[in-house]
Amino acid sequence: MYDIVVIGAGAAGLTAAIYGERAGMNVVVFEKMGVGGQILLTQDVENYPGFPAISGPELMERFEAHAKKFGVEIRYEEVGEVKRQDTHYRIVTDEGEYDTIAVVIATGSQPKKLHVDGEQKLIGRGVSYCAVCDGPFFKDREVAVIGGGDAAIKEAIYLTQIVKKIIVIHRRDKLRAEKILQDQAFKNPKISFIWNHVVDHVDGEDKFEGITIKDANDPTKKQKLDVAGVFVYIGHIPNTKFIDIVKKTSGGLIITDDCVHTSAKGIFAAGDCRVTCLRQIATCVGDGALAAFNAGEYVERFKSSHT
Ligand SMILES: Cc1cc2nc3c(=O)[nH]c(=O)nc-3n(C[C@H](O)[C@H](O)[C@H](O)COP(=O)(O)OP(=O)(O)OC[C@H]3O[C@@H](n4cnc5c(N)ncnc54)[C@H](O)[C@@H]3O)c2cc1C
Repeated sequence: MYDIVVIGAGAAGLTAAIYGERAGMNVVVFEKMGVGGQILLTQDVENYPGFPAISGPELMERFEAHAKKFGVEIRYEEVGEVKRQDTHYRIVTDEGEYDTIAVVIATGSQPKKLHVDGEQKLIGRGVSYCAVCDGPFFKDREVAVIGGGDAAIKEAIYLTQIVKKIIVIHRRDKLRAEKILQDQAFKNPKISFIWNHVVDHVDGEDKFEGITIKDANDPTKKQKLDVAGVFVYIGHIPNTKFIDIVKKTSGGLIITDDCVHTSAKGIFAAGDCRVTCLRQIATCVGDGALAAFNAGEYVERFKSSHT
């Protein structure tokens, strides 16, 4: 039986694993894809203290090396269910079942889709959610970025290194992104803005042929934009469908208290998958540390009452 099972090897999960392992716990991390999580999708990280400029992949390589240095076990398995047993929990993955005293859910989130006509069939052929992955396909061309938050503006700025021109389309009349990002975007000659507009549909059958946008205040007013690609940054959906024994919001975010306890004893949630007011590497790291610390205390209490 493990002391702590951590689900997800992003910033939150790896931090929880490092803290748990250093506290002498027997920890395993389950990861369904590759180690690193969402931050792998961005090239420039400038707000993680101690690293004024580092790429997402390099930062996560350091997290992984740090976790491995302390002997964290990482298993590449997708968790499909967490079951309550009499005294502990059973983790069901696509490869097996594992018992554990405590669980840290750090499964992060995935990009929200526009849910407009043409989007789904043209993913990877003009519709993208990752500038780092797909930006180079649009070298010296014109693209659209949808959204007005940190991720949209940061990735628009990143794309200026590759593409000829970027049109940011935002459903409001002002950005939500950090001031420093806004200032950089406003003074970049490659970036222009279309305010108060949303995407109506993606044009093209087998081949991407631009997008049609509409006025958010008057949907009958539409215009076609002849861009070569569209990058969508309109928020995230938490990866929490697999767990139904903790309380969640209607949108699937796990509800925790300030010390990241969920509604189920011995289950903690950390990072982007929980209700929180900021989703950044720094907050995920804080959550991961809290989750492991409190999980460790739970494990100690469990062991002293079950021996
Ligand atoms: C484009 C972009 C740019 C960003 N830029 C910055 C930035 O500059 N600075 C900053 O601080 N933050 C930035 N962020 C936000 C930051 O990336 C996230 O807040 C952070 O990475 C979330 O970490 P996490 O550990 O909570 O989840 P994630 O990074 O999402 O990791 C969760 C992991 O869990 C795994 N997983 C999910 N479900 C299961 C399952 N059932 N079984 C097993 N494994 C599972 C996933 O594969 C994933 O590896 C950016 C985000 C994006 C999208």
